Amino acid sequence: MIKTLAHDLDTLSRAGLRRSLRTVEHRKGAEIVVDGKTTIDFSSNDYLGLAGDPRLAQAAATFLDQSHVGPAAARLISGNYAVHTELEAALARFKNTDAALLFSSGYMANIGAIPALVARRDVIYADALNHASLLDATRLSRAEVRVFPHLDLGALRQMLIEDAGKFRRRLIVVDGVFSMDGDLFPLDQLVPLAREFDAWTYVDDAHGTAVLGANGRGSVEHFGMEGKIDVIMGTLGKALGTAGAFIAGSSTLIEYLLHRARSFVFTTSSPPVLAAITLKSLEIVRDEPWRREQLIANARYMRAGLVEMGREAPGEPDSYIVPVMIGSVNETVRVGTALREAGYLVGAVRPPTVPLGTSRLRITMCSAHTQQQMDGLLKTLKAVLQ
Ligand SMILES: *Cc1c(COP(=O)(O)O)cnc(C)c1O
Repeated sequence: MIKTLAHDLDTLSRAGLRRSLRTVEHRKGAEIVVDGKTTIDFSSNDYLGLAGDPRLAQAAATFLDQSHVGPAAARLISGNYAVHTELEAALARFKNTDAALLFSSGYMANIGAIPALVARRDVIYADALNHASLLDATRLSRAEVRVFPHLDLGALRQMLIEDAGKFRRRLIVVDGVFSMDGDLFPLDQLVPLAREFDAWTYVDDAHGTAVLGANGRGSVEHFGMEGKIDVIMGTLGKALGTAGAFIAGSSTLIEYLLHRARSFVFTTSSPPVLAAITLKSLEIVRDEPWRREQLIANARYMRAGLVEMGREAPGEPDSYIVPVMIGSVNETVRVGTALREAGYLVGAVRPPTVPLGTSRLRITMCSAHTQQQMDGLLKTLKAVLQ
């Protein structure tokens, strides 16, 4: 066994795809101490700078003063605490839906909810750039799968026409904000199309939750489609700065998932203290809209800086996920390493996360980035790319 596995790892090494874990010792705003070195993090999903906010640590300490850590059982057994229910109510209010159901992670929410909703005899329509967890969920469901080209509503319409009458249930699954280029699925066009063909809609809003929309409710609010998407998945581990995820929607959907989502039923509930911390985080998101504004301002600044150095910045003009296309795996790794050595942590995204030949840097913005930090990254990037 060891020999076979080691051989596979060697193949990864030769292709420049061998990875290793870095150790983060401390996080404050966008500054982290990683492997003993102070570094500016341009690679996290902590868009609003909340992950290292001392108020979250304080909320944890206050909660644990009166409580305990281990949930001890699944939610449906004896692992359901008042704070879980309180957080679900707050998330439903936040997303403007009837109800919400907590999951331990976004990955688990997707692989639980999608197979609960569709099975053999059903069909899933999936955007080609959907997140890996949606792909896995799709496979697990055993439904037929139709993959349409990225954002191509015309192709989706054609598939919906061709499939008329062939399936029991039809579910369209998309990312609200795509994690690699930060572009958005046009939900305002998706909703009428889904209605015309009597298909259900599922939006994974991992990257939009707490950022997009006038109130930070996410991509559904951004497109004015509240109340019109059947299933919304949101994560707590990105802009909200904690960990976990939820599905928001009608109370019937939520009660159905409580019975049928296997990754909800057959797993220990998430530690109640996490729910307490997330309640605090939601409060901060509501009370400090400046964080969202600062994030967008930072994204624009970074994109303008890249354009100025002759690099195109694909995606939405104010998207906080900023890709810098490189192409080859080796060059992407070289640039990523040089930036890290200079004190800037940037994602070096390679296959299998993106297709071969489209390796890129993935710069993610944070409301806590200062102008000096952004200028520093731009200047270093310019030098390294030459
Ligand atoms: C991060 C992410 C997930 C997974 O969420 P976790 O809570 O990290 O498991 C799912 N979908 C998308 C689009 C994501 O970006």
